[in-house]
Amino acid sequence: MKIIENIFKFNGGVKAQTRKSISTKVGIQKIGIPKYLKIPLRQHIGNLPKLKVKEGDVVLKGQLIAEADGSVSAAIHAPTSGKIKSIEKILLPHPSGLPDYGVIIESDMKDKWIKKIPINWAKIGVEATIKALQNSGIVGLGGAAFPSHLKMGSKATKINTLIVNAAECEPYITCDDMVMRERSEDLINGIELVESLLGAKNTIIGIEDNKPEALSQLQFHTKSHKNISIKVVPTIYPSGDAKRLIFLINGIKIPKGKRSSEYGIQMFNVATIIAIYRYISFGEPSLSRITTISGNITKPQNYEVLFGTPLKALINQSGGQKIKNDNFIMGGPMMGFKLPSIDVPVTKAMNCVLGAEPEMIEDKKEPLPCIRCAKCAEACPVSLQPQELYWFSKSDQFEKAQEYKLFDCIECGCCSYVCPSNIPLVQFYRYAKSELISEFRAQEEADVARERNEFRIMRLERERQERAERNAKRRAQSSKEEKSKLIDEKRAAISAAMDRIKEYEKKK
Ligand code: SF4
Ligand code: SF4
Repeated sequence: MKIIENIFKFNGGVKAQTRKSISTKVGIQKIGIPKYLKIPLRQHIGNLPKLKVKEGDVVLKGQLIAEADGSVSAAIHAPTSGKIKSIEKILLPHPSGLPDYGVIIESDMKDKWIKKIPINWAKIGVEATIKALQNSGIVGLGGAAFPSHLKMGSKATKINTLIVNAAECEPYITCDDMVMRERSEDLINGIELVESLLGAKNTIIGIEDNKPEALSQLQFHTKSHKNISIKVVPTIYPSGDAKRLIFLINGIKIPKGKRSSEYGIQMFNVATIIAIYRYISFGEPSLSRITTISGNITKPQNYEVLFGTPLKALINQSGGQKIKNDNFIMGGPMMGFKLPSIDVPVTKAMNCVLGAEPEMIEDKKEPLPCIRCAKCAEACPVSLQPQELYWFSKSDQFEKAQEYKLFDCIECGCCSYVCPSNIPLVQFYRYAKSELISEFRAQEEADVARERNEFRIMRLERERQERAERNAKRRAQSSKEEKSKLIDEKRAAISAAMDRIKEYEKKK
């Protein structure tokens, strides 16, 4: 292991108050098994998985309850043993507040496992192992929830470097920090495994300089690993954003629309690497995660929570809010969103839940007019012009906003954070993006409808022509038949007249 010293500083970013130490005073705690677990079927980016159970079925911990549907999908497993009570729509921890299908398990409190079957990846080969990984249900646990098997391998791209995202740059969130402090051995074993599956030659762990305890654990456990380096990056938000971290580590700028894998780099979050290791080495699918509960909370800390556990159980275990305002944020204060309700379950993407501090609630701050101070532009890590984007979004000039690269915005919230006028800039960008996306969709639908109509007109014209040709043919046919009938009649009349003449001459 070596520590890499040189750092490539990215543009902008903010030095936010991290407030991380409040949730790291005690180690990771466990939340007991609840009587009922509500497990959403969609906990990842991609297709809804296919159900494999029905109401009344008895399931064991780790049993597959929904299998991935297509490659961009992830499986769902029973987080504990019990009975399928119902399959119904449940409220999800999502900004839309809309319900989606989920499975409700009534726990038998025995937590009885299925037979765990580890994968002998060296024996079955990399390709079969990656395929098997789709059954693990593992998705990016940093919050992105992208199915992990998709990042594992592609014949088209050669991965040289595995980057482990240990930056965890959002204020308050400490789940990765605590995992590194307490489970570094699993992490390093996981790194060796993922490196082999990717065919990468080396690994760089990117960690912010505000995690000394985690760093010393990593240094201790990587002593004999020549292929693993550690790069300590400054605590500047958003250093944990994938493209920012890659730049900080090796100075490579990944352009918009390109993937890091095209540059020989693949990135995984620390908790995701451990989940992959646990699945392959011990046959344990994705059933739980470490979630930080912090902010305006009586006992901020980290818990290992089964997916489907009611969020209320987590809040109650932490003593509830210090100042009661019933506002909770999922994720951090910069990129998180206000939960529409606390009657939601813990999911794979739930890295943090914050009891909202009064200053985190947008509608508590009165926005003032923009004073064109350009602080937002200085803070923007993507070098955009946030004040212009704000103006175009606010005045519904969406095309202009697009010209100013609205879709390059990563919604990091740095601009809103530094704005002295308290303007909720990101909300305006989200609004403009959603309007543009609906316009694109409407345009696409109109194009499809127009094409369909043009096709219909062409078909009607073709049918009209075919009909006209058939009629003309029929007319031509019938006039021919009439003509020959007339000739026949004339011939018959002539022949009759001839016969009469012959008769007359005979009589004479
Ligand atoms: S920071 Fe706020 S006030 Fe200053 S230019 Fe940007 S939007 Fe305007
Ligand atoms: S939210 Fe968008 S515009 Fe604002 S700083 Fe981040 S990337 Fe720039």
